[in-house]
Amino acid sequence: MPATCRAWVEIDMGKPTGFLEIQRELPADRSPVGRVKDWNEFHEHMPEPKLQAQGARCMDCGIPFCHTGTLIAGMASGCPINNLIPEWNDLVYRGLWREALDRLHKTNNFPEFTGRVCPAPCEGSCVLGMNNPPVTIKNIECAIIDKGFAEGWVTPHVPAKRTGKKVAVVGSGPAGLACAAQLNRVGHTVTVFERADRPGGLLMYGIPNMKLDKREVVLRRLKVLEQEGVKFVCNTEVGKDYPAEKLLKEFDATVLCGGATKPRDLPIEGRQLKGVHFAMEFLTANTKHVLDKKEAYVDAAGKDVIVIGGGDTGTDCVGTSLRHGCKSLIQLEILPKPPLERAADNPWPQWPKVYKMDYGQEEAAAKFGADPRQYLVTAKRLIDDGHGAVKAIEIVKIEWVKDEKGRFTPREIAGTEQVLPAQLVLLAMGFVGPEETALKPLGVERDERSNAKAELGKFSTNIPGVFAAGDMRRGQSLVVWAINEGRGAARECDRYLMGQTDLP
Ligand SMILES: Cc1cc2nc3c(=O)[nH]c(=O)nc-3n(C[C@H](O)[C@H](O)[C@H](O)COP(=O)(O)OP(=O)(O)OC[C@H]3O[C@@H](n4cnc5c(N)ncnc54)[C@H](O)[C@@H]3O)c2cc1C
Ligand code: SF4
Repeated sequence: MPATCRAWVEIDMGKPTGFLEIQRELPADRSPVGRVKDWNEFHEHMPEPKLQAQGARCMDCGIPFCHTGTLIAGMASGCPINNLIPEWNDLVYRGLWREALDRLHKTNNFPEFTGRVCPAPCEGSCVLGMNNPPVTIKNIECAIIDKGFAEGWVTPHVPAKRTGKKVAVVGSGPAGLACAAQLNRVGHTVTVFERADRPGGLLMYGIPNMKLDKREVVLRRLKVLEQEGVKFVCNTEVGKDYPAEKLLKEFDATVLCGGATKPRDLPIEGRQLKGVHFAMEFLTANTKHVLDKKEAYVDAAGKDVIVIGGGDTGTDCVGTSLRHGCKSLIQLEILPKPPLERAADNPWPQWPKVYKMDYGQEEAAAKFGADPRQYLVTAKRLIDDGHGAVKAIEIVKIEWVKDEKGRFTPREIAGTEQVLPAQLVLLAMGFVGPEETALKPLGVERDERSNAKAELGKFSTNIPGVFAAGDMRRGQSLVVWAINEGRGAARECDRYLMGQTDLP
């Protein structure tokens, strides 16, 4: 190879043959048997040389798909915040960690959150994943930001001057935090209202501590935001403790980031029995107890637990019940078991809809010997113990059949009923939309799914100066989409306030 050509390769791509020579490797998680005894995070870190080798597997593709962030077949393909993944993979390979951190912060305000909880659609669309295991993008992201904090490189950036404009952000989940961080950066004075006693939204009271540490990770970032000048007003529900209309008088603009926290209910016989709870009642009270030690919580210890719903929320109920010391655990899923490999109608670079064991199922398998999920089943009724508490659940197998309009609907298979013991039943069947406390008094229009109506990219509602972002606008989604929308709403809000914007 001519010298000039070699020099070009060395500058643009660290190790052209990395993907041929190095196997994908992730740090081993803490053992499932040991980790269920505490609430500490279950991920371990990897030594730096190994991380650098993993970075070298990146092929620096001519057309990288990992950072595209498009929706294909309704699922994210590539990183929704367009993280500059090939760039920081290469910088990590070269040991240029600080430069990698700067690149990462350009697109992501909170890599320590996504690096822990993101399902990593980037890895699902990594070109290497076509015929090889993809680059360990999420783990490298997490290592970059954790090293950044450890080295003291993450410091508050207080804006050099203030614009004199005041912005209210309602809700302090990842959308509200990203929005506040961006607006503060360009000099606006930002107040974040939060009805809970601590900021963070579902990062604080939703995703459990073993997946995302509250003190070490969430509070660490909240402190940086406060030092930068963002003001948090907690224990204040807009529309209840603080009149929503007052926002329009007191602030130059408002961004609604209240999430989509209305849970889907299960209207079956016995729903009112004691011991039947929404997942979020269980998870929120548990995290409060882990943090404050004095809060009452729903205890799964010694109980036969049934979790209804197979998504992230259900998995978090599984992991939490195991840490309480439940007697048995079954997770019911109405959908079929996914295939082990991509199906023909789910090709790369789509999000791979394949079977996997998440942390909760791994832990249940380690304790009880098998994946706790039962597929293609639904709950028929909850059975009273004679004292108003649940003692069992009747379930039935289902099949998916097309109705007269051609839509797939579940149909019970007669004769497959089964009764399972259950003293605790957790409903984790998703969320049906945002709460109305702030939306109604402001007169914000809704879409057909009851979310705040605001076009993606513009984020403005029908009320001038009022924007909506995150789950409140798109419905229950992912942390990474909330960050995307929070940043986008900040950009449009800044444009509204100043007539132009430099925010990305
Ligand atoms: C149990 C669970 C586990 C999850 N796990 C993952 C995961 O592993 N990975 C992932 O990517 N996503 C996960 N998600 C989804 C993810 O957490 C959400 O998509 C994301 O948090 C949405 O961010 P947000 O800022 O829009 O809303 P939220 O995080 O819901 O925050 C909204 C905040 O607004 C506050 N609020 C609402 N109304 C008002 C009001 N009127 N006044 C003041 N405050 C108000 C709420 O109290 C809340 O704190 C999970 C969700 C749940 C429920
Ligand atoms: S934020 Fe999520 S999608 Fe983007 S690079 Fe990180 S893990 Fe991948």
